[in-house]
Amino acid sequence: MTDNKDNRQVSLLIIYTGGTIGMVQDQETGTLKPFRFDNIIEEVPELKKFGFSLSTYAFDPPLDSSNINPALWIKLSGIIEDNYEGFNGFIILHGTDTMAYSASALSFMLENLGKPVIFTGSQLPIGSVRTDSKENLISSIEIAAATRNYRPVVPEVGVFFENQLYRGNRTTKNSTEHFRAFLSGNYPALAESGVHIRYNYGAIRYPEKNKPFVVHKKLNNDIALLKLFPGISRQFVESVFNTAGLQAVIMETFGSGNAPEDEWFMNCIQNALGKGIIILNVTQCKIGIVEMGIYETSRKLCEAGVISGHDITTEAAVTKLMHLTGLSTDREWIKRQLGTSLRGEITC
Ligand code: ASP
Repeated sequence: MTDNKDNRQVSLLIIYTGGTIGMVQDQETGTLKPFRFDNIIEEVPELKKFGFSLSTYAFDPPLDSSNINPALWIKLSGIIEDNYEGFNGFIILHGTDTMAYSASALSFMLENLGKPVIFTGSQLPIGSVRTDSKENLISSIEIAAATRNYRPVVPEVGVFFENQLYRGNRTTKNSTEHFRAFLSGNYPALAESGVHIRYNYGAIRYPEKNKPFVVHKKLNNDIALLKLFPGISRQFVESVFNTAGLQAVIMETFGSGNAPEDEWFMNCIQNALGKGIIILNVTQCKIGIVEMGIYETSRKLCEAGVISGHDITTEAAVTKLMHLTGLSTDREWIKRQLGTSLRGEITC
């Protein structure tokens, strides 16, 4: 059971970054575009019934989440840092397109997080009759406010959609059509909402006691994402590995971490590793784990020094590498961190 008794003591900060949830139709072009959204309570009067103290912070201008970038993650983490003491939890309204990246990035940037940071959004704008936004927002607020033994139930960066709360760095956008827009293929839901919100207490991460909350604001984007496909050309692979300043490549491989065995391909990999570029092997599958060595087509990668991404999502791999290469240039340390679960992003 959760134990919120006096709702007036609960204060939450709702940060509106943009996305469909706050979009309106442009009368001339018919396309959806963000509108200014300073007073969410007026849009969703039901929120008053909670009795919580709700404050809002709106990005100006609001962003379609395809325009999100590391500078905006730094801004978001700064807003949370500046308001950390004053609020019990944070709700981030964000477009679905890159929500999994933003939630993953924030999970790495907010070390020893002791309060809920819940991302949500919607597939239909808040003004549309069949909108999923109100349900998502109301449940996210309830989750961000929930306490047990007077401590937050979910002190994690989460993504709430339809009726599931997932760990943010385990999510992937999975559907442009269904209200359940996200998938967490390798980790169970942290909570499920129905008549009640049922928490999966055993799956939730809690911060280490006596360790301070730390916000990391250095992100390095000298990384690349290389998705393999049958017939991928040598010129293309070489051009990726020859990118100036490149520090790490996330290589999306087939199945359990397999790649072509062509000599030119393995030479590219070996040359890149020889230059000190880190290569992280992430599977293209949404469910399952990289296990290098099961097939001949992955054994060679392992022997060459490619690092296993285990069951990490591409979104978490990209942002984890931005975070780690932002923190340090020590390649051996970075490689060890890649094999370690920092925020529950991999199953060790
Ligand atoms: N293009 C929108 C965005 O990500 C889609 C959405 O919000 O669902 O900002």
